[in-house]
Amino acid sequence: GAALTLTACGSDDGGSTGSGSDDSGSAAEVGKVGVILPDTESSVRWESADRPALEAAFEEAGVDYDIQNAEGDAERMTQIADTMIGDGVTVLAIVNLDSESGAAIQEKAASQGVATIDYDRLTLGGSAEYYVSFDNTVVGELQGQGLADCLGDKEANIVYLNGSPTDNNATLFAEGAHSVLDEIDSYTVVGEQAVPDWDNEEAATIFQQLYTAADGKVDGVLAANDGLGGAAISILEGNGQAGKVPVTGQDATVEGLQNVLAGTQCMTVYKSATQEAQALADVAIALANGEEAEVTGTTVDSSDDTEVPSILLEPQSITKDNVGDVIEDGGQKAEDVCTGEF
Ligand code: BGC
Repeated sequence: GAALTLTACGSDDGGSTGSGSDDSGSAAEVGKVGVILPDTESSVRWESADRPALEAAFEEAGVDYDIQNAEGDAERMTQIADTMIGDGVTVLAIVNLDSESGAAIQEKAASQGVATIDYDRLTLGGSAEYYVSFDNTVVGELQGQGLADCLGDKEANIVYLNGSPTDNNATLFAEGAHSVLDEIDSYTVVGEQAVPDWDNEEAATIFQQLYTAADGKVDGVLAANDGLGGAAISILEGNGQAGKVPVTGQDATVEGLQNVLAGTQCMTVYKSATQEAQALADVAIALANGEEAEVTGTTVDSSDDTEVPSILLEPQSITKDNVGDVIEDGGQKAEDVCTGEF
């Protein structure tokens, strides 16, 4: 409703950026940190949220950094990594495009004495010293719970639009969502498919196929992020069903938050880039100083049962009622979110 929209969009608090921690004077000893982001298409988050947050965190810590984007091309990521290693980075953090290429990059780095960190996505079979991410199973649980809250306990046919089959996070999101929704007896899964590379256009095609196969009898959509959710919404719109069929998301993107406010998307998941970037900077600095980083636990690599020391942050569920939380936290600017018609 209009009142809720005003709560989120009426705030003149444009958001503040996290001020980070004061890292004790060792910055000068820390060499350069390289970060390779995966692409620009699977989510706007990498360039719009992660890059500026990483820049801020490294600048605040007084650490040299080089942030590049592999543009969805694993070979390109490998070349960028080689160049960074040649340039003398002491720590290399990657968001892998697939575990195989990620593991190869990490092996090469290790052979050159460069420490590696998995940023956001765990590299299965990799050799990263640390993993920095959110609790991705909880992300999936929040999505499942969010969809259940929107649907209630009526009979409902559910379609899953999962993330890339090469992204370990996508597996965890789907597992988390299933763990909630499979418990509700009145729900039936009528379609489920993974979207290669999280490609939004392909997601629309896949969703159209699943929708047609289900004879249009779809009551809820578990979409793994805002881009996939937006693709589902566009198809629902074409069928006069947008706003009637709840759709989930993730990343609290401008588009996702606008869809939440407009009522075409049931929820999104906010994962503070400021927090994740700060955690990465802290770990990178510890590694560069030959110190141990503070972790929240370990993550089991399901491919070989090894345990990777991890910092897993808490994701937050966002519905129409608390879009303002994202803005207050500095996750988006009110002037960007509040331009739509709600
Ligand atoms: C990230 C999500 C993102 C997706 C597509 C996942 O690994 O955790 O935040 O939406 O990749 O880039």
